[in-house]
Amino acid sequence: MNIQKNISLKPFNTFGIDVKTKLFLEWNSIQDVIDYTQSAELKKHERLILGGGSNMLLTEDFDGLSIKNNILGKDVISNTDDAVVVKIGGGEVWHEIVLWTISQGWNGMENMSLIPGSMGASPIQNIGAYGKELKDIFVKLEAIDLKTGAQKTFDLDACEFGYRNSVFKNVYKGQYVIVSVTIRLSKKEEFNTQYGAISQELELAGVKELSAKAISDAVITIRRSKLPDPKELGNSGSFFKNPIIPESQYEEAKYEHHALPSYPVGDGMVKVPAGWLIDQSGWKGKRVGNCGVHTKQALVLVNYGGATGDEIFQLSEDIIADVIQKFGIELEREVNVF
Ligand SMILES: Cc1cc2nc3c(=O)[nH]c(=O)nc-3n(C[C@H](O)[C@H](O)[C@H](O)COP(=O)(O)OP(=O)(O)OC[C@H]3O[C@@H](n4cnc5c(N)ncnc54)[C@H](O)[C@@H]3O)c2cc1C
Repeated sequence: MNIQKNISLKPFNTFGIDVKTKLFLEWNSIQDVIDYTQSAELKKHERLILGGGSNMLLTEDFDGLSIKNNILGKDVISNTDDAVVVKIGGGEVWHEIVLWTISQGWNGMENMSLIPGSMGASPIQNIGAYGKELKDIFVKLEAIDLKTGAQKTFDLDACEFGYRNSVFKNVYKGQYVIVSVTIRLSKKEEFNTQYGAISQELELAGVKELSAKAISDAVITIRRSKLPDPKELGNSGSFFKNPIIPESQYEEAKYEHHALPSYPVGDGMVKVPAGWLIDQSGWKGKRVGNCGVHTKQALVLVNYGGATGDEIFQLSEDIIADVIQKFGIELEREVNVF
């Protein structure tokens, strides 16, 4: 096993935070994971699993072992007239898999084009965009318990997917590495263009015949116009979740803030757009030292260069405090803070 010492994690997180890890290792196969689980020497260190580093804020040097998951693989498990089931290695890049499935004529991932990161991290927060979530195409995943080395299969129910949530963010946090994700894609032309500006973008592009490729292109165009590219401006996408609050709390807040938007999510709860709350609290486009809130998207915190994780964390604390004071609504971070 090739273990590197005292290396910078800057190339491994999309915020571009320059912290060091004491030890660094890459897993290229399931055997590498098993070897790790059999090494008492390696297991004694605190551990940080890295996919694409696009959903994490690193606030200090890591006095442990960082592990980059590179396990690849694309296996067709079943292929019928209607659908295909494919098993994808956890280290595969999500967007490359989206493009690959579209090129094969398989539908289901197109709305989730251009989400950064790895396949293996996609179940952690049940990633989603433009009206689709991983859970809509999910069949099962294979994971390895990093304490015991035991392999376990999680089906849809076992993952307990919710809005940017799963068991892997809660009871099993840090316990498993996800080595593969199996998804079902359709060969039927069932598309969802209702969300956001997709249909408008399709019209602008003069699309006459709907296809996964056309939707993917539209989503890519919209995302590029709204979200900063981490290669140019360090960021981790949406820093906060959209709060889900009881209708009664919403009505109370709306009494003072008449324009407060909301979307019913059932069980007497409503979802409130976090970006709107942050914008109305005066934070959109604001720069504080080396970091700030993106000019076009208030949900996205950015590193203008040289920001520390602590600076960005403090900015998020200040935003949370202001939003509570103004609206009585508490924002929760979507990004994993280490
Ligand atoms: C510009 C931008 C736009 C984004 N847009 C969206 C969006 O539209 N929708 C959305 O849902 N998200 C979005 N995100 C967030 C991010 O892309 C996703 O959360 C993605 O799934 C993170 O993948 P990753 O491989 O980079 O995970 P990392 O950031 O490397 O890791 C995230 C967490 O998962 C753990 N982890 C990683 N891999 C594994 C594994 N194989 N097994 C077990 N644990 C693991 C890590 O330890 C960490 O706790 C965006 C991010 C950026 C930068």
